[in-house]
Amino acid sequence: MQKKIPMRQCVGCREMRPKKELVRVVKSPEGAISLDFRGKAPGRGAYLCPNRECLKKAIRAKALERAFSTQIPPEVLDALVQTMEEQANE
Ligand SMILES: [Zn+2]
Repeated sequence: MQKKIPMRQCVGCREMRPKKELVRVVKSPEGAISLDFRGKAPGRGAYLCPNRECLKKAIRAKALERAFSTQIPPEVLDALVQTMEEQANE
């Protein structure tokens, strides 16, 4: 019997992937948007493949703004891209 793996959709490329292979983008209860590489931060989450391309696609498509139903300032998006670049290549 195969164990069921929790799947989530990347908001960039829209592919379904195992949740633990994705990076969580989280909106904290205070409204701050950040990348949550451990998947444990409180707040609403959206999921992305751990690469810059999917993040950029999500930004272009305004997928994060839709997911969180909020406006996200460009400097916050830039910071997300930068964090992704620093953290994603393991
Ligand atoms: Zn993706």
